[in-house]
Amino acid sequence: MRIIVLVKQVPDTTEVKLDPKTGNLIREGIESIINPDDRHALEAAISLKEKTGGKIIALSMGPPQAVDALSEAIGMGVDEGILLTDRAFAGADTWATSFTLGKAVEKIGGFDLILCGRQAIDGDTAQIGPQVADYLKIPQVTYVFEIEAVRKKSILVKRRMEDGYERIQCELPALLTVIGELNTPRYAMVGGLIDACREKAPIKLWNAADIGVQTCDVGLEGSLTHVIRTFAPKSQRQGEMIEGDAEAAAKSLIGKLKENSLI
Ligand SMILES: Cc1cc2nc3c(=O)[nH]c(=O)nc-3n(C[C@H](O)[C@H](O)[C@H](O)COP(=O)(O)OP(=O)(O)OC[C@H]3O[C@@H](n4cnc5c(N)ncnc54)[C@H](O)[C@@H]3O)c2cc1C
Repeated sequence: MRIIVLVKQVPDTTEVKLDPKTGNLIREGIESIINPDDRHALEAAISLKEKTGGKIIALSMGPPQAVDALSEAIGMGVDEGILLTDRAFAGADTWATSFTLGKAVEKIGGFDLILCGRQAIDGDTAQIGPQVADYLKIPQVTYVFEIEAVRKKSILVKRRMEDGYERIQCELPALLTVIGELNTPRYAMVGGLIDACREKAPIKLWNAADIGVQTCDVGLEGSLTHVIRTFAPKSQRQGEMIEGDAEAAAKSLIGKLKENSLI
């Protein structure tokens, strides 16, 4: 089975801070990690390979330092990494990101399954998986928390719903977005990480020309949405002290809550 795992390198924080002057993300001093959901996608791919054999390719789009995420993926058990990195890819919205990843998947070709996380902890849109599947015109199942069986031409999975789950059989090739409930990701093997540090890891770098895209179709230029302004909403707490004895204060509090339709 040939599996492609989409891996995004993200800042190691869920509290993304914005520079109030420029509106850009403050990345200084924040370590980068593999997006948590993607670690579960990697674990699923490696477990499947252990059962059925085959090859796993981890694919990422990002700046040159995203090679670290791919090195870690290789340390976990992935066979090969491909980093899409080019100045032309910068400023991509989810449309341009999905298009670029889709083009790279087409270039890789011959895959049975694409696994990705449900959502990235920085961008947080959960759009990439569904958009890549749509671009490639392959079936998709989102919110997968169990892979029950893999057959020659289909896969049987369970998909989390708010009030239960759906059991879905899907033709291959297909794309699955996975959630944390799926498995417990393994740690990277030290040997794999050492190889990566010595630049022995099998990681390819592809630019816009390598995947046959024009710069006007990727990055900021190829994006359908443009950020006009970003800002953190000001939080203002209003406190009011209610004076008097306990009974009178309680009555006064109840009156105020009713007045504001809070009870
Ligand atoms: C209008 C707009 C403008 C933007 N401008 C910029 C900008 O200038 N600079 C900037 O850095 N970002 C920018 N972004 C953010 C960028 O578009 C997203 O980070 C990117 O498209 C991924 O979306 P997401 O983080 O919501 O991923 P999600 O859809 O939440 O991710 C789901 C899964 O898709 C896969 N995935 C997501 N991204 C990648 C990736 N890059 N490589 C491999 N797999 C991936 C992973 O498996 C991940 O778990 C912009 C976004 C918007 C909407």
